[in-house]
Amino acid sequence: MKYAVFTVALALAGCGGAGQSPGSAAPEPGPTASPAKAESVPQPVDLPNINPQPGPTAKAVQPIQHEPIMKPTKVAAAKIVKTEAEWRDTLTPEEYRILRQKGTERAFTGKYDNHFKDGTYICKACGTALFLSETKYNSGCGWPAFFKSIDSTVDETPDTSLGMVRIEITCKKCNGHLGHIFDDGPNPTGLRYCVNSASMDFVPAEKKPGAAK
Ligand SMILES: [Zn+2]
Repeated sequence: MKYAVFTVALALAGCGGAGQSPGSAAPEPGPTASPAKAESVPQPVDLPNINPQPGPTAKAVQPIQHEPIMKPTKVAAAKIVKTEAEWRDTLTPEEYRILRQKGTERAFTGKYDNHFKDGTYICKACGTALFLSETKYNSGCGWPAFFKSIDSTVDETPDTSLGMVRIEITCKKCNGHLGHIFDDGPNPTGLRYCVNSASMDFVPAEKKPGAAK
């Protein structure tokens, strides 16, 4: 718990006001402020003058979050934020139910399930290019399936609804619900991006810029 130790150290240094001392003494953060000490120390109060540590005051101790999946990816500049009323205005009821309320279209009913033309699948809500036709394959699962998304366009979040443990995929730009990702896809990724047709629109290759194939 280095972070906790630093926090305590900062608090102590801040109270003592010894922030400017250059810190020639060796900072030894280890035994100083372990809060869980329970061995024969009579008073449980944190002693303010146990070896005041001069050094790390100036360093900004900021909590670094490194959770690989649940990261709150704040790509603030790129996010599209609309009110629910605005989304209702721009989406059909079915699209709204799926994209904004995490619904699922019935299997084998989506317009892109058996759709294999050349082009780009974009987010129905915000227009972000999400999948290329060359990564689409027929999984037989009843929904459009891709083994790869376009880089940095899709967020993945654990989803334990319906008594299952799945990974939800959403549009990184507008947070629109796309579907789920499974690990039973083909090579080269072994992944299956299982996407609702209603979450996407299709731009044929002729209109796609740089569609050299
Ligand atoms: Zn989107």
